[in-house]
Amino acid sequence: MKTLLLDFSQSELEGEFSTLGIERYRAEQVYKWISAGTDFDEMSNLPKSLRTLLAEKYDSVGAKIVKDAVSRDGTVKFLYELRDGKLIEGVLMKYKYGYTLCASTQVGCRMGCAFCASGRDGLERNLTSGEILSEVVCANAYLAKRENARIGNVVLMGSGEPLDNYDNVTAFLDLLTPSQGIGQRGVSLSTCGITPNIRRLADDGYSVTLCLSLHATTDEQRKKVMPTANAYKIEDIISAAEYYFGKSGRRVIVEYAMMRGVNISDSDAVRLRNLTKNFPCHINLIPLNDTDSSLSGVNKSEARAFLSKLTSLGASATIRRSLGEDIEGACGQLKRRYTKK
Ligand code: SF4
Repeated sequence: MKTLLLDFSQSELEGEFSTLGIERYRAEQVYKWISAGTDFDEMSNLPKSLRTLLAEKYDSVGAKIVKDAVSRDGTVKFLYELRDGKLIEGVLMKYKYGYTLCASTQVGCRMGCAFCASGRDGLERNLTSGEILSEVVCANAYLAKRENARIGNVVLMGSGEPLDNYDNVTAFLDLLTPSQGIGQRGVSLSTCGITPNIRRLADDGYSVTLCLSLHATTDEQRKKVMPTANAYKIEDIISAAEYYFGKSGRRVIVEYAMMRGVNISDSDAVRLRNLTKNFPCHINLIPLNDTDSSLSGVNKSEARAFLSKLTSLGASATIRRSLGEDIEGACGQLKRRYTKK
């Protein structure tokens, strides 16, 4: 595969170009073009000879949208094809305050959560920083063709465990602001709780919103749905989240997929409240999506009852609004169905 230009920062691109004898100011021009998802052919302020040289040696963008499924509520599910033919998913969600893109960080995932289709086939490979950035670039180009809008927020909640691809994900965070104008306050990173890398993220000075995929209130219960619970105890994950809050000052979000017969008893509500009461934290209750797994989701009254128990205990909690229900909304489903076809 050719070198991907979006893997470079602008200053790295200057260094790369200088080894080829290309003038420094060209790096700035090319950086603007690749940040807009433009092909070499269309880089109109570059001489043809330079465009040809660049196209021979590099790829400008690392992904392309091969399918877009548009929901009645305006949510768009993307299937991206990477340069090696691998497929990943993304979701573009429209809120009152603007557009949010849910992006993937790996092809597949090795964490094996029972409720998630993305992890069914294990990890195929990590995405590079430029490939993750390409998802945002492509989605912004998609939006630009349809309306005068840009993505304001990115949630790293698509396929993959971001903290299992730490170097590339943090390199992506470093590229996101100069390339797309999205600061860390506009980024949420969802993790199943890889505690050493939660602490490392804090120590490295990142201040994205940390979203903990907890989904259980005891280690035994968690092991049944998340194999990663065999490596990381809930107590240690919560301690790492407190550490992250201490360093970043950012309120933590606890993600909790409600599963009938698994984690929605009154005792679960009490334990969940106790786990989260010592630091600023909001609990996002997620009605489980149908991912062809053996786990059961909850109906509206069960979800409301669990929410009400939690809030009566003093927790800050809401039920996550479900978007794109008519377009294979859950993580990994679109890819699986597209691949089967
Ligand atoms: S929920 Fe996240 S961490 Fe778990 S298997 Fe799916 S992508 Fe991986």
